Amino acid sequence: MKRLRQILAYPVMALSGLGVVCSFIFTAVSLAGYPAEKSTVRLLFPGVFILGLPTIFFMNALTADFKQRDAWKAALRACPHWMRLTAWVIIGLVFVSFFLPVVWGNKPGSFTASFTLFPSDFYAIFFGVAYSTIHADRFDARRRCLNGHRISLLAKFCEECGAPAAPEPMVEPRD
Ligand SMILES: [Zn+2]
Repeated sequence: MKRLRQILAYPVMALSGLGVVCSFIFTAVSLAGYPAEKSTVRLLFPGVFILGLPTIFFMNALTADFKQRDAWKAALRACPHWMRLTAWVIIGLVFVSFFLPVVWGNKPGSFTASFTLFPSDFYAIFFGVAYSTIHADRFDARRRCLNGHRISLLAKFCEECGAPAAPEPMVEPRD
């Protein structure tokens, strides 16, 4: 199953990356005054549902051993810092574009670009989860105690010297 997930994660990651790019292109097109809502509905919305399914499957596997409140951190744990930052920036952009019209006294979401931009936050998350699925093994193997001994993913203390786990992986295992 793990191998299957890792193989499946490659096309999911590639398509999610494409989804983010398409969403941005449609937004640019829409800002330039051409309607892009139809293409968004036809391409990007179904894509969210199609890629959402394997992502749920990946997330379940990535977060199985972790506490609920650490689920996002666990699911994205193997992503480099810049990747997580980019995902949060995209989510922030979507949020801002949705609520910005309120500043001018319009209804939230009435800015057309927020519609074409909206799917990009899903795709950014899918991308991160797929990336994490591919790289989690290597990331988990890097876990060390404070003295640098290799320890298992769920260990809180080192079996060799008893020192606590080094804080780097930043997610607490489930008790
Ligand atoms: Zn140790």
